[in-house]
Amino acid sequence: MSLVNRDLNIIWHPYTQMQTALPPIPIVRGEGACLYDENGKCYIDAVSSWWVNIHGHANPYIAQKVAEQLKKLEHVIFAGFTHEPAIELAEHLLKLLPDNQAKVFYSDNGSTAVEVAIKMCLQYWHNQGIQRTKILAFKNAYHGDTFGAMAVSGRSAFTAAFDSLLFEVDFIDLPDASNIEYLKSQISHVKSDLACFIFEPLVQGSAGMIMYEAKYLDELVAHCRKEGVLTIDDEVFTGFGRTGRNFACDYLTSKPDIMCFSKGLTGGTMAMGITTCTQQIYDAFLSEDKLKTLFHGHSYTANPVACSAALASMDLFLEDSTQKNIRRIEASHRQFAEKIKDHPKVRTIRQTGTIIAMEWETGSNTSYFSTLRDKLYQYFLDAGIILRPLGNVLYILPPYCITDDQLIYIYAKIETALEEL
Ligand SMILES: *Cc1c(COP(=O)(O)O)cnc(C)c1O
Repeated sequence: MSLVNRDLNIIWHPYTQMQTALPPIPIVRGEGACLYDENGKCYIDAVSSWWVNIHGHANPYIAQKVAEQLKKLEHVIFAGFTHEPAIELAEHLLKLLPDNQAKVFYSDNGSTAVEVAIKMCLQYWHNQGIQRTKILAFKNAYHGDTFGAMAVSGRSAFTAAFDSLLFEVDFIDLPDASNIEYLKSQISHVKSDLACFIFEPLVQGSAGMIMYEAKYLDELVAHCRKEGVLTIDDEVFTGFGRTGRNFACDYLTSKPDIMCFSKGLTGGTMAMGITTCTQQIYDAFLSEDKLKTLFHGHSYTANPVACSAALASMDLFLEDSTQKNIRRIEASHRQFAEKIKDHPKVRTIRQTGTIIAMEWETGSNTSYFSTLRDKLYQYFLDAGIILRPLGNVLYILPPYCITDDQLIYIYAKIETALEEL
């Protein structure tokens, strides 16, 4: 039986309407930005395999480090025990973060990194006997698919079946010059109920690569600090170079209390999540009283193999050649945006670092479920490019090792699509 048929017999895929979706494409190997199917056809991975891959597929350096670790220690319970990869990764990561970040908590994906962040904030107040349980988030936010992460995400078709069970969250507009003072007053108004404010810095990925200015986020974070509201910077998507700097919060002068990481953390090799926090938050859990413990953990917390993948990925990330690649992709995207921005089918085009997104002119139908989306998706697959539009928003988010030729090919196919679709 073919791989496709064996799959269809028994596998339920994520974010997939199994009745109407086209059969999945079996991938047998990857190299650089290319994923190869059974017939040897290359698909250029222009979405970094759901935004996780930053150094290309089957990266030999990461593979070697992971293999070495696998032969030494594959896993150990992380309560009561520790190991060098976890310690070294925490040391390396903290060196890259704002210097108020002091402690590292491990989990195993982006949603759990967010769950931990929310729990840290809620219990921070609880441990001090202060009643502050309200959470503030942006409209259209996306912070993950588990219940807590879903609750702090915007209500949408994706959450509809669960809306009545999600805890209440105050959603505010993205900040800009016109509303920043109003948003600040909104925060001040409810500050004594607010446990924390969670945000995707600079780019709301899942909402359709919606971008907003660092300057106004900076003002909001500073205002929260002034009003004693904790801030959670969800860098699950934006971390590790996506926005052009190491982390999106590097564009801010006010620093968040808590940060969340996953996706690019291991270069897309192993599942891993990290939540970091300030000494002040950590200290609120220190007590002779066992009830003040952060009661949270996952079986695979700080898995040594995942830690070694993250360490290897971070080595590569800090190399000059990677930093140059990020600059190269930024410049290349900028040129492309300039070239097509006036095309009648391009409603808007926007860019932050290595992320470029264009809104396709569709008249009024802009839903995620629009048929244009499916047409575009298939059009690019046929051309050997993986692009997964979010509704009518087509975006490119490549691994940093993507070649100029591959980028030029993607741009050219988008231009043809603009003519043909
Ligand atoms: C993807 C994403 C998450 C969830 O990460 P998973 O590993 O998919 O659970 C959380 N926050 C942001 C900003 C994301 O883009």
